[in-house]
Amino acid sequence: MRIRLFIICCFMTGIAAMATAQKQTDKPWCGYTGKSPWFSWYQQNRDQIALDRGIDTVWLYVPVTLHLVSDNAGNGYFPLEQSMRALCEMNEQFSDAHIRFYLKPGDPIRYLSNSNWYQHDYTAGGEMIDQNWLPGRLNIFVVDDPAGNCGYSWKDAIVMGKSCSPSGNTTWAHETGHHLSLPHPFVGWEGFEWDYSEPAPEEIDGHPVEKTDGSNCAFAGDGFCDTEPDYLQDRWTCNTDKRSNDLQIDPDGVAFRSDATLYMGYSLDECQARFTAEQMEAMRSNLYDEHVDYLQITQPLADIDDNASVQLLSPIDSQTVHYNNITLNWQAVPGANFYIVEVGLAPGLSPKFFTQTVYNSTSVNITGGIPNNRVLKWRVRAFGEWDVCHVNANVQIGIFKTKNLTSTNDLESAILTELSPNPVAGGTPALLTVTSAESMDVKMTITDASGRVFENRNIRLGNGENRIELPTGNLDAGFYVINLHNEKGNFMKRLVVTN
Ligand SMILES: [Zn+2]
Repeated sequence: MRIRLFIICCFMTGIAAMATAQKQTDKPWCGYTGKSPWFSWYQQNRDQIALDRGIDTVWLYVPVTLHLVSDNAGNGYFPLEQSMRALCEMNEQFSDAHIRFYLKPGDPIRYLSNSNWYQHDYTAGGEMIDQNWLPGRLNIFVVDDPAGNCGYSWKDAIVMGKSCSPSGNTTWAHETGHHLSLPHPFVGWEGFEWDYSEPAPEEIDGHPVEKTDGSNCAFAGDGFCDTEPDYLQDRWTCNTDKRSNDLQIDPDGVAFRSDATLYMGYSLDECQARFTAEQMEAMRSNLYDEHVDYLQITQPLADIDDNASVQLLSPIDSQTVHYNNITLNWQAVPGANFYIVEVGLAPGLSPKFFTQTVYNSTSVNITGGIPNNRVLKWRVRAFGEWDVCHVNANVQIGIFKTKNLTSTNDLESAILTELSPNPVAGGTPALLTVTSAESMDVKMTITDASGRVFENRNIRLGNGENRIELPTGNLDAGFYVINLHNEKGNFMKRLVVTN
C-alpha cells in the first residue's frame, strides 16, 4: 500500500519538486528539494529493516529498457554502443553495492522519433515518460536536451542528456541513485545562495543542517552518518585531496571542506568515485521494497566470451553481388542478442552506406543505398542484453564487390572501376582503375556537361587490374563524364575537377 501511495504522490507532486538532475559545466541545476516519501519512511525504519533482513550481500540484478530518442526525422539517436558503454560503466560504479544492470531480455531497446521529446521542457518530458514507461524495469530515456539539465529522475524513470553521457561520466550513476531513493548530501540547500564565510543556520528549507561533530548526522542533511556535511548546491571542482576548494562553516562555527568523492554530490564527474555504505544499503532496501518488481532473476545469465568475434559467412573474399539486393550472413555468437552491421568503403568503413542494429537474427538483406561497381567492406559487432560490457576487440572485415547483375549491358557486368581522387584538383592526374574479367578493347571518351569531347582514345584492357592515368591539365573546374564503350555495351563514370 505504501508503494501505491507513493506512486500516486509522485504523479501529483509538482514538477519542480520532484524533478532531480545533475548538471555538468554549463548546464543549469534542477529544482529538486528534499527527500522522497519512501526515503523518509526508510530512514525512520531502517534499524528494523536491517534487523529483519540481516547481513545481505547477494547480487541484485536490475533490468533496464533503454528508450533512445531522436528527432522527428530519425536523426540524433544516442548510439547503441554508447548506451551499452554507459551501462557497463554504471555496473562498475554500482559493483560495491552488488547491484548489476542488464537489458531487459526481449525488450532491451525502444527507438522513439519525436522532436518534442528529443529536446524537451518538463511538460513534454512528462508526456514522454507517461506514454512510454514500462513496468518491471528501470526505464532510461536518452535525449538531446532533458529540460536544460544533464539528466533527471522523475516519474519512476530517469532521463539522460547525450552530451552528459560520455565515457567516465557519473551522471547516469547519480540519477540512478536518485531513482533508488538517494537524496543529495546537501539536501535542503538546493537553490539557496549562501555566503559561506558565515556560519550555517541550524535549519535550511525545513531540514536540520548537518554538523561536523556528527551529533545530528542521523536526521540532519541526507540523514546518513557516513556522508559528511555538505552545503554546496552548485557544481564545484575538487582539490588534490578530493575536497572542495570552498570552505564552509557549520552552525557551531567549525570550518570544513566537502567530500568530493560522492556520486550524489555536485562535485565534477572526475572527483566522484563512490557511494557510501549507508547509501548502498538504502538503495538495496529500495530495490527490495519499492522496486521489488525489478528483482526477477537471482542468478547471472550467460556472458559473451571476451575474445569472441563475429564470424562472417557471406559475402566474403571479394565475392561479386548484385548492388541493390545483398544478403549479409554471419555466425551467431553465444550470449549475443544484437548485432550492429555496417557497410562502407575502406579504410574505416568510411563513408558508410549502411548501418543497422539487428536483434536476435544473423542475417540482413539490403535493397538500396549501396553504390554499384565498388569494392566494399562490411563488419558485424556483437552485443548482449546481459553482457553490456563486450567491447568487440577482434572484428573481422568482409570484402565484396557490387555489380548490376541484372543488366543487359555486358560491359557493365564485365568490368569494375575505381576512380581516385574524385573530386580531383585541376592539374593533378586522376587514376581510373578498371578490373576486367577478360581481355578486350574499349574506346574511352571524356566529355563535359555540354558534350564537348576532351579525350578520345582506344585502350586495350587485360584480364585483371588495369590502371589508366587521366591528365586533367586541360580541364577547367566542373563535371566530366568518362565513357568506356565497345560492342558489349557502355559504361559511364562521373569525374569532378576542382580549382
Ligand atoms: Zn541530483
